[in-house]
Amino acid sequence: MEKGKIIVLSAPSGTGKSSIIKRLMDYPELRLGFSVSATSRAPRGTERNGVEYYFISHEEFMSSVEAGAFVEWEEVYSGTCYGTLKSEVERVTDAGLNLIMDIDVKGGLNVKKTFGDRAITIFILPPSKEELERRLRGRGTDTEEVIRKRLDKADFELSHAPEFDERVVNDDLEKAVEEIRGIILREDKNMKPAEQVVG
Ligand code: ADP
Ligand code: 5GP
Repeated sequence: MEKGKIIVLSAPSGTGKSSIIKRLMDYPELRLGFSVSATSRAPRGTERNGVEYYFISHEEFMSSVEAGAFVEWEEVYSGTCYGTLKSEVERVTDAGLNLIMDIDVKGGLNVKKTFGDRAITIFILPPSKEELERRLRGRGTDTEEVIRKRLDKADFELSHAPEFDERVVNDDLEKAVEEIRGIILREDKNMKPAEQVVG
């Protein structure tokens, strides 16, 4: 059985990646499996260990780095690390599913370097900086300091949008989901027939 595609979604925090991924997971024909990353940050709101992330301590994170457990990892915000586990990539793509990951800009570009044509990188853009700030505040899960750190990083992240394979604006959520669904279906079809999984 051929391995599935790797779909990378990156965007400034608060743009709507998690909301989009949740909606995409409702379409069985996309055959998606979510890559659960490891992070050293604490759970937010209703997040559960092993669902949104594997929540581990900074020490555990660094031991996993030394053990070579990650395909890629980044200190996305000062003192807070996130990484894609090799075991997640294998679990999902070995089953012939398309792996969908929500990772930062640097991580996304590194995944493209590692996996080449097997990976499709999609950058999600907020309609404006003002709307991005409104969404971050509206989420109601972060402290003012965390919100500021995330907004400060947004310009740097947006400057990398041209390096991605595709760009989608998340103004209307349903439209953004439809656009990304179309990209995934097109990529899936482009796989050679022998690569398609039956059933
Ligand atoms: P990210 O995963 O990129 O950090 P989230 O999915 O958590 O972003 O979305 C941030 C906030 O913005 C959430 O409160 C979410 O409900 C809201 N949101 C997402 N997409 C839209 C949209 N198209 N229009 C308005 N609000 C949105
Ligand atoms: P959040 O704390 O809002 O869930 O995520 C913060 C940032 O970390 C987002 O940009 C998200 O895409 C990124 N991120 C989540 N998991 C990973 C990962 O495994 N690797 C990298 N490089 N970034 C990640």
